[in-house]
Amino acid sequence: MIFETLANTGHEQVVFCHSKDAGLKAIIAIHNSVLGPALGGLRMWPYKSEEEALNDVLRLSRGMTYKNAVAGLNLGGGKAVIIGDPSKDKSEALFRAFGRFVNTLSGRYITAEDVGIDVNDMEYVFRETEFVTGVHQVHGGSGDPSPFTAFGTLQGLMAALNHQYGNEEIGKRSFAVQGLGHVGMEFVKLLREQGAKVFVTDIHKDRVQSAVDEHGCTAVGLDEIYDVDADVYSPCALGGTLNTKTIDRIKAKIICGAANNQLADDSIGDELNKRGVLYAPDYAVNAGGVMNVSLEIDGYNRERAMRMMRTIYYNVGRIFQIAKRDGIPSYKAADRMAEERISAIGKIKLPSMGNNGPRFLGRMRGQ
Ligand code: NAD
Repeated sequence: MIFETLANTGHEQVVFCHSKDAGLKAIIAIHNSVLGPALGGLRMWPYKSEEEALNDVLRLSRGMTYKNAVAGLNLGGGKAVIIGDPSKDKSEALFRAFGRFVNTLSGRYITAEDVGIDVNDMEYVFRETEFVTGVHQVHGGSGDPSPFTAFGTLQGLMAALNHQYGNEEIGKRSFAVQGLGHVGMEFVKLLREQGAKVFVTDIHKDRVQSAVDEHGCTAVGLDEIYDVDADVYSPCALGGTLNTKTIDRIKAKIICGAANNQLADDSIGDELNKRGVLYAPDYAVNAGGVMNVSLEIDGYNRERAMRMMRTIYYNVGRIFQIAKRDGIPSYKAADRMAEERISAIGKIKLPSMGNNGPRFLGRMRGQ
């Protein structure tokens, strides 16, 4: 049964990790390592069943293969989940046990933070294994990726503006930005620096007030954001906000934001395409975070990170070209771009000197 699933999803390896003493029940999934070691975050979630946890890790690790491939990284796709409640089941032993399992994979899987995990949890994992990214800056890590994600989103936006309007003049455009968290707030700041008209909303009223007071944005209600007459709708909160209920209301001709899984399902991507709304695929646009942590592998450097974020402009532009070339919606073109890259690199028959292995230069372990 499980091998049938893996045959369908294309996974290479799934590792079930168990330690009774540490209370650890974790699953590590390596989807594809053609481009390099599989990198993807660790999620901790109170899954209702083991099946739910397995489905989640399989889905998320596959997503990382596509994200890392489109980002141009020498990394494959993987992910890990711990079954547990992050508000009460965390302990040093739990994360150290997980770290030991990661270490047994000798770098085939590199972990990072995801939902339910913070930098302190990663410190424990880091005590047991080198194969961790997103460690604290004191260890030579890369710190909070959000400003990079916001800057990368801006690059994706410029590619979309160029494609839709033939110019990249952000200041001439209006934006409806949903969510003013770590990424959203930085993103609206960048938009306002270019003189754009920016409408904002967030559940947290204080964040909306800051965007108004500090960046000169215009506040709108939580539900009103879908009706705003703006050129660009920018989801920077939760996924699934592009759905059958919202797309009739959204007037924007471009959709470009940092949120993950923006399309409720594929049919929404098809419908947007039919209507001439340009959707900048989420995982290509928001790759700034993974690009940033990936640089820890060769020795983190902020300047290299900023240079790398600019490649999102070309990646998103390339997706639109593929969409045009093949007559397909942009969300499908993003997947095709990933598959073409994996296939092309996988076909190289020349001997590899193994330079793709993780090296983790410039980091110091210990406390
Ligand atoms: P965050 O939790 O800091 O911010 C999310 C914000 O959205 C919060 O302020 C929250 O109040 C608001 N929000 C939630 N539901 C809302 C709603 N219905 N309407 C309006 N606002 C709402 O998260 P973040 O780190 O800024 O990430 C934002 C999105 O980008 C997420 O989908 C995340 O998965 C994705 N992402 C983030 C990064 C990164 O580097 N942080 C990288 C890639 C993708």
